[in-house]
Amino acid sequence: MDLRSFIMKGEVIVATKQFQAESKRLLELMINSIYTHREIFLRELISNASDAIDKLYYKTLSDESLSFDREKYYIKIAADKDQRLLTISDTGIGMTEAELEDNLGVIAKSGSLAFKKENELKDGYDIIGQFGVGFYSAFMVADTVTVISRPFGSDQAYRWESKGAEGYAIEPCQKDTVGTEIRLLIKQNTEDENYDEYLEEYRLKSLIKKYSDFIRYPIKMDVSVS
Ligand code: ADP
Ligand code: MG
Repeated sequence: MDLRSFIMKGEVIVATKQFQAESKRLLELMINSIYTHREIFLRELISNASDAIDKLYYKTLSDESLSFDREKYYIKIAADKDQRLLTISDTGIGMTEAELEDNLGVIAKSGSLAFKKENELKDGYDIIGQFGVGFYSAFMVADTVTVISRPFGSDQAYRWESKGAEGYAIEPCQKDTVGTEIRLLIKQNTEDENYDEYLEEYRLKSLIKKYSDFIRYPIKMDVSVS
């Protein structure tokens, strides 16, 4: 049976692909999370950005024709309150179309999910906080997650987009520089949950401080002057 559904986007028909079963379960867990430490999504995305820059750095170490210009490598965080958009970009190694598919369509760490299930309710211990929950934690605060990535050595960029457990779509797009941009369409506030804070400069700054202890690259943020 063909499980794919199709979304019309202008003239282009984009196939929506299904997440693998394990990934879907983790996603659902993230989306409907009773988990209160939603803020850790930022730690996860910053650490992924940093890993991606590391990978480019190691590549330059093993290839004499490449040089690593420290100035050119950074992570940038930008918030647009009106559009409810939080963007985390990096100048790291980027992802090919296949890598977007392999890395974001599949959960590699089912181990931590199993571990969580076993231990979480046992003592109420903050397992998610201890473990890297990874990329999917973005869905704890965002309705739509868009990843725009251009891999090192290529001119072609791709956009991966998902509204959650339903699946994801990948299509070619334009990106001027190598690296990855993660765009989070931040959820609307609910009675129980305040999401607006993830678009607030002061809140973001304090989260960045809290979660960037081991990050060796600069984290930039546009600051409004008032
Ligand atoms: P982990 O970081 O533990 O591997 P994640 O769920 O956080 O798990 O990320 C999954 C994979 O997606 C990463 O291993 C990496 O290959 C890829 N990835 C995620 N974010 C980025 C990024 N900003 N740049 C390049 N690759 C990324
Ligand atoms: Mg990670």
